[in-house]
Formats: sequence, C-alpha cells, structure tokens
Amino acid sequence: MQSPEKKEYEISLFPGSEFQQETGRWLSEHLANAINAVARGHVSPTVDVARFREQLARRSFEEAEPLTELIEWVTDALQQGLVQMTHPRYFGLFNPAPSFPSVVADTIAAHFNPQICVWSHAPAAVEIEEHMIEQLAQKAGMPESSGGHFTSGGSEANNTAVVCALTRATPEFAELGARAFSGQPLIYVSRESHLAWLKIAHQLGIGRNAVRLIETDGLGRMDINVLQETIDVDAAAGAAPVMIAATAGTTNAGVVDPLHACADIARHHAIWFHVDAAWGGALVCSPRYRDVLDGMERADSVTIDAHKWFATTMGAGIFLTRHKHLLNEAFAVATDYMPSNDASVDYYVNSIQWSRRFIGLRLFLSLGAAGWSGYAAHVERGVALIGAFTDRLQREGWRLENDSKMAVACLTPPAGGLSVTEIVDAVVRSGNAWISETRFEGKAVIRVCMTNGRSTQADFDALADQLLQLTSK
Ligand SMILES: *Cc1c(COP(=O)(O)O)cnc(C)c1O
Repeated sequence: MQSPEKKEYEISLFPGSEFQQETGRWLSEHLANAINAVARGHVSPTVDVARFREQLARRSFEEAEPLTELIEWVTDALQQGLVQMTHPRYFGLFNPAPSFPSVVADTIAAHFNPQICVWSHAPAAVEIEEHMIEQLAQKAGMPESSGGHFTSGGSEANNTAVVCALTRATPEFAELGARAFSGQPLIYVSRESHLAWLKIAHQLGIGRNAVRLIETDGLGRMDINVLQETIDVDAAAGAAPVMIAATAGTTNAGVVDPLHACADIARHHAIWFHVDAAWGGALVCSPRYRDVLDGMERADSVTIDAHKWFATTMGAGIFLTRHKHLLNEAFAVATDYMPSNDASVDYYVNSIQWSRRFIGLRLFLSLGAAGWSGYAAHVERGVALIGAFTDRLQREGWRLENDSKMAVACLTPPAGGLSVTEIVDAVVRSGNAWISETRFEGKAVIRVCMTNGRSTQADFDALADQLLQLTSK
C-alpha cells in the first residue's frame, strides 16, 4: 500500500529536509544582511505604527502564505520597529547584542527542542546545564556542594531566592503560605535595588509591604546603619525578617552594596543572604575586577543574568545556591504522569518552571568559544571604554555622579545649558545612539552603559562628539 500524500499543511509545518536546508541557507544570509543594515541605520524605532497596525490587522490567517514572504515581512518590521540591541551605539540597559555562539545555541536548541525538566528525557542537555552551574558557582566562590539552575532571567532567579528564604524560615510556609508566620515576613533591599522585588512579594502572597526599601548612603549603596536599625525595630515589633538581598551592581549605576556587612547582619539574625548580581555578576570572569564582588561568596544564593553582560540571547538567568537540598523542599511535587521524580536531578521538582528550554547551552557555547579569558577581556574592555569616554566629558565640565567599577556612567551636563531630559531626547530622536535618563541619589542623570560587545572606540567618540556639541554654548 502506498503511503498517503503529504497534505498542504504538512508541507508548511513539517517540510522535508531539503526545503529546510534551502530555507536555512537563505535565512542565514537574509538575517546577516538585515543585522548589517541595522548597524548602519537608526538605533531607535522608525516604524509608522499606524500603518504597521493596519498591515498586521489584515493578517487573519484565512489564506496560507509562503514562509519566505512572511519572514521577509517580519524581518523588515523588526528592522524598523525596535530599539536595536545589535546596533553598536546602543548604550542602553544591558540588553545585549547577543554573542554569536549564543545565537547558534538557540538554533541548536530549537532544532532538537529537548525537554529538560526531567533528567531522563534529556540527560546530555541536563548534564551540560549542571556543568555550567557548577562552573559558575565555583567562579562565584561558592562551595562545591552548591547547586542551582537556569531561569528566564534575573527576576525569576530573585523570585526563587525569596521562595527559598521563606521555606527555610519556616517549613510550614509550604502548606500555609504567609499565614505560617506570626508576623509580617520581611525582605530587605535598598531603595536602588531592582524593583522586581515588589512584584515578587505580591505574587508570593506576602504582599508588597513585605519589601523594606532601605535608604542609600549618598553613594547609591544600602545604608548599613539604617538596615541594622530597621531589622531590629521590625523584629522587636513582632515582624519576621527573612532575607537581606544586597545588589552587586545596581541597575542604574553599577554600585555594589556592602556585601560583607550585609552578610554579617544576615548571619546575626539567622536570615537568608541573597546577592543580586544580575548584570555585575559577569565580573566573576575578570581576575582584575573580581574583588568588586568580594563577599558574594558568603551568600546563601546569587542571581546572575546570562542575558546581560554575558551577552547571551534573552531570556537567560542563573540562580545559584549553597543550599541545594532546599530547592526540592521548595518546589517538590508528586505526579503520576511524569516519567520520573528525582529530587537530585529533575529540574521540575527543583525550580519554578516545569517544561523548560535548553538555555544553558547559550553560555556553554559562548564560554567554550571565548574561554573565561575571552569574557574577562569583554568586560574589561567595557570598563576601559566607559572610563575613557567619561574622562573626556569630565574635561569639558561634565560631572560623573556614580562611583562604579562596572561599565556604566551616570553623568550630568555642565549647568546652564540643555537639561538632562533635553539632551537624552535629542540623542535618542537623532537615531545616532541610545542612552537613557534616570535618577541617581535623587538627581536626574544621563545614563550611558557599555556592555555592548559590538561597540568600538569610534562609537563612543561619536556619542561624546554629539553630547559635547549639544552642550557647547
Ligand atoms: C536586570 C536586573 C534584574 C532583573 O532581571 P531580568 O533578567 O530583567 O528579569 C534584577 N536585578 C538587577 C540588579 C538587574 O539589573
């Protein structure tokens, strides 16, 4: 008997390997051209949104279209409708121009599409991720027995930390939630921390009031005296402090909270000590700057994003903890339909996610191709470029407001000229570069970040020229 002919839809969704290869070759050239064009164009979106919405609304999928035409339409849309992370003058929010090996890793992961929530379904992939976690924990200075997993990003990793802290504070948290505590559970972060903490507390049902935003010391660091006093007062009032989360590299200004002092206070109160090194954590690669993170090794848990200064594709975060067993206490669940339920190896009983993408491959291929020394050079180059850029502006009367060893500068222009907002607007509108406005210690500042592996000295010179021209009298 002859096998039935492939139907139209089968050809579109599951074409033969020849079509796949041909499309793949065409696609890789098409994308390379698109990304090259991006580098020569505007950093900011140029799309006519009204027209774009009309085009989009017409697509109701009543008729099938050729895939290549759809790809052309969508890449065209992305070329015009994005702030371009791959543009060499995107000096933005750590969203990286992705490393090439991580792009390749995404492609590989997409082709095999492994399900890595259970070891038995994907032993090779899970073992690669475990290896990466071990390597990173070691670089972070954590004990050999440490564990962890990849996450969708820093927010999920921080969320995991809070679940662990609450679970360790009282085992009844698992059954009773916030009611397991006789008083309000509290987590302590600085006012300059990444405010995903508020969403996390909300979702976990401990409420946004659980987040104590501790004052900073005028230099953007958590004020240790205020932290100590606040915890003492809260504890005396019957609340339940559960965690201090220090930031090692604030999002705005690359400032590191006093990690040892935070660790001491956490130890004194026997509460969880977390270090959020979402972007600054990449400094673990640099022997030269590693001590910026000194004290991180004392943490109960650490957040590092792969999709920030490590430059992998989004979303890729990392959660590390020295209390590996606690993950299973926090995330265990028994089911009949899962092929296994092994606390020692199955991610779905050790983490927030269930089905999982093979994220760790991005860092495996990137680190494999560059080595730790390649990453050290990547981060050190960023620090050097931002330093030279800042020096030049300072010589022209600009002020550097933040004191950071990381690759971010918070600057204020000379008085009497354009305001911070006017300058940032002018730069972003020009499409020449992307920078942002933020506040540092209550002051409006221009924020310029150099985590972009595609930026060169010439790109920084172009931005400096533009800024100086805007502020020349
Ligand atoms: C970016 C960032 C986060 C959030 O990470 P996502 O990957 O965006 O979820 C948390 N903390 C700090 C310090 C960050 O810079």
